[in-house]
Amino acid sequence: MKSKDSVFRVLLDFIYPPLCLSCGRLMGSGAEKLCGDCWGSIPRLSSEDHLYRETREKLLLDGAVDDLRALFLFEKGGAFQHIAHAVKYRSYESLARMLGRTLGESLKGEEREYDVLVPVPLHRVKFRERGYNQAELIAQGVHEVTAIPVAASAVRRVRHTRTQTKLSHDERRKNMDGAFEPDAVGMLNGARVLLIDDVITTGATTTACAAAIRLGGASRVVAAAVALARKDSDALV
Ligand SMILES: [Zn+2]
Repeated sequence: MKSKDSVFRVLLDFIYPPLCLSCGRLMGSGAEKLCGDCWGSIPRLSSEDHLYRETREKLLLDGAVDDLRALFLFEKGGAFQHIAHAVKYRSYESLARMLGRTLGESLKGEEREYDVLVPVPLHRVKFRERGYNQAELIAQGVHEVTAIPVAASAVRRVRHTRTQTKLSHDERRKNMDGAFEPDAVGMLNGARVLLIDDVITTGATTTACAAAIRLGGASRVVAAAVALARKDSDALV
């Protein structure tokens, strides 16, 4: 006998046929949002990639981040853009968790290097609009695989920042100045933090958030993103 969940799934698949988010192909079940071909088409980043090295260098130079982990390359019009967009605007919370688990798998073996996962917070106005924080869902996925605890309230976004798409690196940094605050100074005392985000573009948000985490007492901050995007890729997703 089928469980209630799978009966519901079949019903959902009937009403909304499960189409691949990226290529639109009809798939076997709605449990997956992306077909195998599209998953396979997303370029994986390696530590040798130019964009990875460039982004990491910039983050380290800004001073608040100690290292960078990232999985995919965000390409304009690529499969990952469709995923990131769906996660942000179409409430595919299970997909965000799945991305988190994939990121978690890539961190296997270094779990002991971190005490806590801190998702980049949304401003409460935005959180209310969207109903969830995709970085927090990703962090939950990472937690499912690595068992590193999530501290979603360790930092707050205290300022609603304007969209950064058209700004230069320096302008973005200024724009993000004071955007985050630690929830309580000392809360993260000595903690080795893995800072979780969906997509890193210039790193201005990452740096501002990492600085607040350090103010909270953290001894080490490694940034982890599901994907990196080039500045000109319009990764406003
Ligand atoms: Zn597809």
